[in-house]
Amino acid sequence: MQLKRLYHRVLDDNGLPVQEYARDAAGDIIIDKATRIAKARLKIMRDEAGAAIVRGVLVERLPLHDAHKFSPRLIEAGKAEGWLTETDKKITIHCALSGNIVFKKVAAPGRQCNHCGLSLPGTQDDPSGSVARRHVADEHPDAGVANDYDVRNYYLTKLEA
Ligand SMILES: [Zn+2]
Repeated sequence: MQLKRLYHRVLDDNGLPVQEYARDAAGDIIIDKATRIAKARLKIMRDEAGAAIVRGVLVERLPLHDAHKFSPRLIEAGKAEGWLTETDKKITIHCALSGNIVFKKVAAPGRQCNHCGLSLPGTQDDPSGSVARRHVADEHPDAGVANDYDVRNYYLTKLEA
């Protein structure tokens, strides 16, 4: 799955998109070596802090049957930009073209025991992993030390039918 953000274009008095010159890190206008023409792009609206204002998002290449991963960071960005909402059980992307695309949460970020599959506290509630290690020591005393549990830092979801 790919997400493509859409932006508001800055328009001039005639309603035409304003172009701005592309600049390098030093602030100099970038000149295309082959054509010797200054590179320009359509100017997009920005907030007072200089961040681009997102007007929506397009979802591309959406596999219908696979599991989809959502990092907490992507979820927070989507909420802040207004194209994603979240409940306890679902994540919804409000796609500018196809409307709402709903994903059912299958597993939350956290640790999972590799011996019995139990969900264990993640890095937020248990930064050092002591709960996970204690679980393995108490419940699976004969198991080896390596690969005792997995850490998942994303929501695992399924596309809702
Ligand atoms: Zn276990």
